[in-house]
Amino acid sequence: MCGIVAYIGQREAYPIVLKGLKRLEYRGYDSAGVALLNGSGLKVFKKKGKVAELEDHLTGKDVRSHVAIGHTRWATHGEPSDRNSHPHASGNGKLAMIHNGIIENYSQLKQELLKKGHVFKSDTDTEVLIHFIEEIQQSNQCGLEEALRIALKRVVGAYVIVLVDEDNPDTLIAARKGSPLVIGVGKGEHFLASDASPIVEYTKEVVFVNDYEIAIIKADELILKNISNERQTPYIQKLDIELAAIEKGGYDHFMLKEIFEQPQTIFDSLRGRLDAKKGTLTLGGIREHAALLAQAKRIIIVACGTSWHAGLIAEYVIEELCRIPVEVEYASEFRYRNPVVGEGDVIIAVSQSGETADTLVAMEAAKEKGAIILGVCNVVGSSIARLSHAGAYTHAGPEIGVASTKAFTAQLAVLCLIGLRVAQEKGSITQQRFQHLLDELDTISEKVAVTLKLNDQIKTIADKYKDARDFLYLGRGYNFPVALEGALKLKEISYIHAEGYPAAEMKHGPIALVDENLPVVFVATHDSYYEKVVSNIQEIKARKGKVIAVVTEGDQTIPAMADDVIEVPAADELVAPILSVIPMQLLAYHIGVLKGFDVDKPRNLAKSVTVE
Ligand code: GLU
Repeated sequence: MCGIVAYIGQREAYPIVLKGLKRLEYRGYDSAGVALLNGSGLKVFKKKGKVAELEDHLTGKDVRSHVAIGHTRWATHGEPSDRNSHPHASGNGKLAMIHNGIIENYSQLKQELLKKGHVFKSDTDTEVLIHFIEEIQQSNQCGLEEALRIALKRVVGAYVIVLVDEDNPDTLIAARKGSPLVIGVGKGEHFLASDASPIVEYTKEVVFVNDYEIAIIKADELILKNISNERQTPYIQKLDIELAAIEKGGYDHFMLKEIFEQPQTIFDSLRGRLDAKKGTLTLGGIREHAALLAQAKRIIIVACGTSWHAGLIAEYVIEELCRIPVEVEYASEFRYRNPVVGEGDVIIAVSQSGETADTLVAMEAAKEKGAIILGVCNVVGSSIARLSHAGAYTHAGPEIGVASTKAFTAQLAVLCLIGLRVAQEKGSITQQRFQHLLDELDTISEKVAVTLKLNDQIKTIADKYKDARDFLYLGRGYNFPVALEGALKLKEISYIHAEGYPAAEMKHGPIALVDENLPVVFVATHDSYYEKVVSNIQEIKARKGKVIAVVTEGDQTIPAMADDVIEVPAADELVAPILSVIPMQLLAYHIGVLKGFDVDKPRNLAKSVTVE
């Protein structure tokens, strides 16, 4: 959440920062702002709303500068407004700062500063921090870097901050704890950003800043220090993403592009790992830990949002294949309820961005208690990847639409591979079943491509139901989490109230909602729960609910009862969610578009949730 971009070098800084903010807008779009340093001092411009509104506001203004910082906000403290927008300035107007994260003890610091006469212009925690730094600078008569170091020792919370100082126009100072920061290293120039997307067009050489590091950045120099003022050697890595991967490529929305990329992204997540012809499965990232995983007393999957739904499906898959008890936890709850966890437990942390704050702190806590940590994330070099003992990347490529789609199916593919690999190691799967599931995974991306051909049909269904006030999504077994995911996608994108339930559980409450106006989406592909789901459909029809059913091609029974039917190719029930979720994604997408909403930037949401 919150996108941060900064530039220092010979080029015009504002266009670089503006373009970068547009690329990072998925992280928040409550407001945007820039601070520019040129010969005539510090200039700060900020505006409530999306980056385009800031751009309009600045049209015709003098934005020439070679040093700039920019921010796109997802508000945590203080409503979205011009005055709460970043950058925030110090009391004397000489310093400007952008911040991603939360200063948890801001209230206490603010009281102290108010007593000392500081006057605040915003409601943010961020402004308190910049005043606190200024206060230390003045009372200790020290430089900005030293003041920052002292301030950060008192700060509780998470942050990436970037500071500019009118009195030192050739230097940017940045610091990180808990939120991501990448520095692009060019020839005589540096780029800073929350992820690599604003940087990749200019340089592929990057440094991922670590927690508790402070960076002092000039056009031609990058100094990294730890919080105790000791120099650290910047570790320069080569990025392997291409510009095309972060552009819309002819689609109306990133979300649609990403839905349609799934045959490729699932294939990429399996490629090099699964060889169905040879009957082999290699997961380099967990090779050394495979035996320990097979002996695990318990596996705990920790995640948030859509990744949590992937975790629920993995629970069914891993318990079935490995006969190891699996629990799936919301990271935010797991972390704060003092869970019983220790040696012999394996934690699988699932996160698209690899930066989800709740998941990160949950991992840290479990790691301290002796658990083995496995990371499943999409962003190479991300905090979760670095904190894990072992893991497997999903190779979905950059996901920019705020509602996750291709990352989810890639997570399912990789979690299936992990289940199969552990089962193989443990000997809890027959060779025949192992081979069958390899074959099923091997063909799944082709079946996803077939399912995507239903796009127009699903658009028609979307048009029919777009004005409904509520939706119910039901499924059993492997398809129950798919129902949860379908409901979540609809809420996120179309703002229609939707609930997902296990189809049988519907009788214990939600059935009271059913009438002729309620669309009920059944995820009812042919599996071991099929007959029971058919009965649940009858129960809804008996109460005049409208049934939209996702079924397996050739189904004769459900189409005779349902109002609308979407047929997906047949697949083993373990991998079927990879297919049955595609219609959920397309239905939500089309309803959102038909209702005129910005599906790539849904209201109040942001991607990469780096605050707890
Ligand atoms: N806490 C800051 C604000 O509300 C930054 C928010 C964030 O990074 O999401 O402005």
